[in-house]
Amino acid sequence: MTSPPGLVLFRRNLRLDDNRPLDAALRASGSVVPVFVLDDHYLTEDFSPPRLAFLAESLRELAAALDAKGSRLVVRKGPVGEALAALARETGADAVFTHADHEPHGHELLASARAALEPPGIALHAVEDLLLVPPDALATEAGKPFTVYTPFSRRWLERDKEAPAPEPGRVPTPDAVLAASFPSIPLDRPRGLREEGAPDNPRGGSREARRVWNAFRESALLHYAEKRDRPDLPGTSRLSPHLRFGTIGIRRILHEAKEIWKAAPSAGRKSVETFIKELAWREFYASILFHHPRVLTENFRAEFDAFPWRTGEEADLLFAAWAAGRTGYPIVDAGMRQLLAEGWMHNRVRMVVASFLTKDLRVDWRRGESFFRRHLADGDPASNSGGWQWAAGSGTDAQPFFRIFNPVLQGRKFDPDAAYVKRWIPELANVAAAPGDLHAPWTLETPPPGYPAPIVDHFAAKATALAAFAKLKSAAPKKP
Ligand SMILES: Cc1cc2nc3c(=O)[nH]c(=O)nc-3n(C[C@H](O)[C@H](O)[C@H](O)COP(=O)(O)OP(=O)(O)OC[C@H]3O[C@@H](n4cnc5c(N)ncnc54)[C@H](O)[C@@H]3O)c2cc1C
Repeated sequence: MTSPPGLVLFRRNLRLDDNRPLDAALRASGSVVPVFVLDDHYLTEDFSPPRLAFLAESLRELAAALDAKGSRLVVRKGPVGEALAALARETGADAVFTHADHEPHGHELLASARAALEPPGIALHAVEDLLLVPPDALATEAGKPFTVYTPFSRRWLERDKEAPAPEPGRVPTPDAVLAASFPSIPLDRPRGLREEGAPDNPRGGSREARRVWNAFRESALLHYAEKRDRPDLPGTSRLSPHLRFGTIGIRRILHEAKEIWKAAPSAGRKSVETFIKELAWREFYASILFHHPRVLTENFRAEFDAFPWRTGEEADLLFAAWAAGRTGYPIVDAGMRQLLAEGWMHNRVRMVVASFLTKDLRVDWRRGESFFRRHLADGDPASNSGGWQWAAGSGTDAQPFFRIFNPVLQGRKFDPDAAYVKRWIPELANVAAAPGDLHAPWTLETPPPGYPAPIVDHFAAKATALAAFAKLKSAAPKKP
């Protein structure tokens, strides 16, 4: 008698290499049934078109990769628990393997899947896969979760991490599932998954993830420490959507980065170390979200609840100018236009536009966070709310109040040739002016036609924000 197959639920690990739930299923069961469940989550507004397009491409490639291994990706409609229970009934499977998910949405989804699978006696194994260190694994000396990045990262770096699991040679799957008559939704049919995205959106799929990672490893990783803040240069990996959808494994990335470190000269080693510390930021925010799920919608620092955000029509108009890339500050506008065109934005510029919205315009960080979520291909609840609260000053950072980026100086420092702003703002592309002056176009003898004047005066706005912060601090209850 053949042993029952195991179902492998793919969600944010859309690859065959370094896939721990798949590896666990293949070791536990003689054969597996790979499955993806389209639930309503993918049809919500939050699931931005660039993300849907990325997901669709990644799924099509995963399906082809499974075909090539003698298997098949079965696609069913949600809810997830009901779909899995039905598939287990149809295939005789006695277990489901998927990745552990510590985000509020994923946590709820796994809990309800478990509830649906329990009566028929099907075990659900949630295997750690998305992070190098599970979010509940590290604690301070006092046994509390970390709330500050630097001590977290120290412990995170010390901690042993799993090696990548090899890609299976074959993925044995029951014949009945391979039969054309076995029900599965074609990947080009469901609404949303037909989306092709905009031409400049990040492309999905494991092959693309490998191409993106190889290009970065070969040309930029060893210079990452000097170039990662330059939005005009290809100095960062652009792995973020691939890490969000798991088209490449995080253990594979770390393993290969460490191999490069071993062979690198000392300046190159520093760059690899800096890159690995950025992976730790991703896991720091995942751990903050796990321990404090309220950060998705609430200030991490409660004293910030009294911050006088602008409201009403004035806030709406300023927000609309920011969202359209028409604030009159080139580095801010270039960033927002890059986001609208590519579904991605450089990290330095994310910090600048977020500081500008929350401090210069005093618009609530939640509006910015939501806008990012709806436009980014890499939209990640933990990193997005973490990044926004860091910029607003309401987050985990110890010295948040004084960091108000001057958008002109940020532009001059990190886009010294004005190449980034010229690329994204056609109104500035052919203006004959010194690059530094292009970052303050209103100071030019002839301001560029069609490009807006600044919507606020940075220095006046900074003074107002600092006064509001000072009031918050003096109103905050003193620690005993
Ligand atoms: C306001 C704001 C919002 C953000 N929203 C998101 C988001 O929704 N999704 C997202 O993945 N990142 C977000 N980030 C973090 C960061 O901007 C992106 O991860 C990074 O720009 C992705 O580009 P990259 O892959 O080339 O990064 P690289 O510099 O090559 O870094 C490699 C990887 O490390 C991780 N990483 C790097 N910097 C950070 C960081 N500051 N915080 C957390 N992880 C980091 C990412 O997974 C990234 O892919 C946000 C940052 C800010 C300031």
